[in-house]
Amino acid sequence: MKSQAPFIIAVDGYSSCGKSTYARLIAKELNYVYIDSGAMYRAVALYAIEKNLVSEKEIDIETLKKSLDSIQITFRLNQASGLQETWLNGVNVEEKIRGIEVSGVVSKISKIREVREKMVAIQRTMGSNGGVVMDGRDIGSVVFPGAALKIFMTACTDVRAMRRYKELKEKGIDITIDEVKENIRMRDHEDENRKESPLTRAHDAIILDNSHMTVEQQMTWFRETWKKILKTHED
Ligand code: C5P
Repeated sequence: MKSQAPFIIAVDGYSSCGKSTYARLIAKELNYVYIDSGAMYRAVALYAIEKNLVSEKEIDIETLKKSLDSIQITFRLNQASGLQETWLNGVNVEEKIRGIEVSGVVSKISKIREVREKMVAIQRTMGSNGGVVMDGRDIGSVVFPGAALKIFMTACTDVRAMRRYKELKEKGIDITIDEVKENIRMRDHEDENRKESPLTRAHDAIILDNSHMTVEQQMTWFRETWKKILKTHED
């Protein structure tokens, strides 16, 4: 073997493609740690909302930049569910960061260079020992360009909107399918067109369009792909 170290797997792609479900399953299968980088940007967005730095018209970027050192984001395991949850400055914010209010501003927050620099630094520290599956938008292109496997997920907008709509409804969130679709379109646009680390496929990422694939089919695809990757790391 060229390398015995546990690897890093990057799962990037569009909003609501099922990246986190997929990345979590891959992590479970390999006994790796799953890290949800989007949750970190969502936590910063929540911080900005709670500190009244977000109004309908604008975000107080300057104050947010100055506050970055007071933002502490960690993940802790919920023993009951077995899932990692996001904590912001010692408070469990897992539920709050998934709401539509945070979803509505997060892509404006994630555009800010200083916010990205801080998140990327934390993500690199979290992945420094390998054995990590991280999902996001720039994991393969910026955070871990040397990742052993880079997956770029995509699915058609209608399929993504329906999946997200069902997820939100199950959580009891009152929303229409059109609102969900609009939010997805807006986030795709903002994520793809921002100056700082836009959502883009790393040149060596493998595309996975899961519009018409079950989770089991996606796992079969992963197992086959992973076998090939491991082979390339053998002598
Ligand atoms: O993955 P999720 O949809 O929860 O991410 C929320 C938002 O965080 C995205 O719409 C994007 O603006 C931002 N994000 C990012 N870079 C990442 C992960 C998420 O800019 N690596």
